[in-house]
Amino acid sequence: MRATILIIEDNEQNRYLATFLLEKHGFRVVEAVDGPSGLVLASDRPPDLVLLDIQLPQMDGYEVARRLRAQPVLRAVPIVAVTSYAMPGDREKALAAGCDGYVEKPINPDTFVAQVAAFLRGPRQEELS
Ligand code: MN
Repeated sequence: MRATILIIEDNEQNRYLATFLLEKHGFRVVEAVDGPSGLVLASDRPPDLVLLDIQLPQMDGYEVARRLRAQPVLRAVPIVAVTSYAMPGDREKALAAGCDGYVEKPINPDTFVAQVAAFLRGPRQEELS
């Protein structure tokens, strides 16, 4: 079974790059361009992991993380924030909002998939290592 990753990211280039890299490594990717649509997708079909941009229009990533965590069915799903180098305070706030960790922007194509996969739990983790 391939792991499904939900990407919530408003920037088209970042979304494209992340999806490209993850699909290349065998992950199934579902994309959302903003928080509200990401929340709907996540509750309809809980993914194995959520990759969450912090700087989103209307509803920021912190609020999205809090709302994901408020749903019992999503409580155990890892949330990985995507934060900017320029905003170090984002990381602490992301963890406080319920994220399990973060990867930094700009995405490094050489390390991105391994960084994300490290947050997947359970048997999948064995397969990936
Ligand atoms: Mn953004």
